[in-house]
Amino acid sequence: MVIYSNSKISTFETCPYQYKLHYIDKIEPEISQTIEAFMGDLVHQTLEKMYKDKKFKKNVSKEILIKFYRDLWEKEYSEDILIVRENEGLKADNYKKMGEKYISDYYDSHKEEDMTIIGLETQDRLTLPDGNQWHVRIDKLGCKGDTYFVCDYKTNSRIKMQEEADSDRQLAMYSIWVKDKFKDAKRVILKWHMLAFDKEITSERTEEQLKALQQEVIEAIQEIEEATKEKDFPTNPTKLCDWCGYKSACPSFKHLAEIEEMPVKEFKEDEGVKFVDEFAEIKARLSELQEKQDELKANLIEFAKQKQVDVIYGSNSKASVKEFDKIVMPEDEKDKAAFIKLMKDKGIYEECSMVCYPKLNSKVLKGEIEDEIKDKVKIEKDWRVSLSKRKDLEEE
Ligand code: SF4
Repeated sequence: MVIYSNSKISTFETCPYQYKLHYIDKIEPEISQTIEAFMGDLVHQTLEKMYKDKKFKKNVSKEILIKFYRDLWEKEYSEDILIVRENEGLKADNYKKMGEKYISDYYDSHKEEDMTIIGLETQDRLTLPDGNQWHVRIDKLGCKGDTYFVCDYKTNSRIKMQEEADSDRQLAMYSIWVKDKFKDAKRVILKWHMLAFDKEITSERTEEQLKALQQEVIEAIQEIEEATKEKDFPTNPTKLCDWCGYKSACPSFKHLAEIEEMPVKEFKEDEGVKFVDEFAEIKARLSELQEKQDELKANLIEFAKQKQVDVIYGSNSKASVKEFDKIVMPEDEKDKAAFIKLMKDKGIYEECSMVCYPKLNSKVLKGEIEDEIKDKVKIEKDWRVSLSKRKDLEEE
């Protein structure tokens, strides 16, 4: 039995290598926290205090909450918190003020809220049909009669669309837990407080949808367990890497982290830098040469036509220029299909067609082909070297 959570599965889906470092190797990230996560955590703590104080009939005003939040900020903020968007002119103080506004707006729009609060930062586990457990952590759980509300505070600066809410895994899984724990629950409403927009997005699932979701979760867990067994955790570099705490341990960024630390002279002497620069230069030259070759070929054809010759002589070589016939197959999808059918009907398809290697390769590697065929091919390791522009330099 293993405990899974939405963030555990999401980490694997976002980047299997990050999952490995975090959940298997249990490596501490080199970045203690990002400013977004830090601010989000303090806002959560402040809203938790708001409901706790209300429960104990303590005086809770907006000013008290903002002061609580500011005090927390002073106490817990440290210089090693990462501000990814610093290059856009954003500073810690901007995030601090954003958090204050979120709390203030939330207070105003929820001070008359009439639901009964059952739990805050509720922690429990849900046993899945495969025997694994699902970690449940609900920001705010409330009810009105037999209708329950699973509420999540979101401090993202991107609003959640209705379709996203309707397919969100995290809260929907919690609604399975609510239905299991509270037998009177007739409805479970999932609610996202989009604090940056002072808006609420809600969603509700049917029993069938929850059953299907549970099955999807079990399949996602199986995929993780398979990857763990095979030790197969590829990196997945995306824009989100800027927020990843493992950049210097990641094969996709380790070399960058190393050269960024080097003085210019040492950087220029780095073998990796030299290889890539030379490789890029050769590729550029090859592409120029290819263009030049195409241009010369066109010139030779034109020359041969004008002079009515089919061999052109150079100092040490000669070029033969001959016109020839070639067929052009139908390009339109429908016409192409009809053409292939005709070839098959006439019994010449087998003779004229070739195995599509990229398709076969992909089917075998993805296991989308029968074992009898798969067993007849060998799987070898090979290397692919591809070149692309450094995006980090483009953004500077
Ligand atoms: S830096 Fe990007 S690719 Fe590397 S582990 Fe982190 S998320 Fe994955």
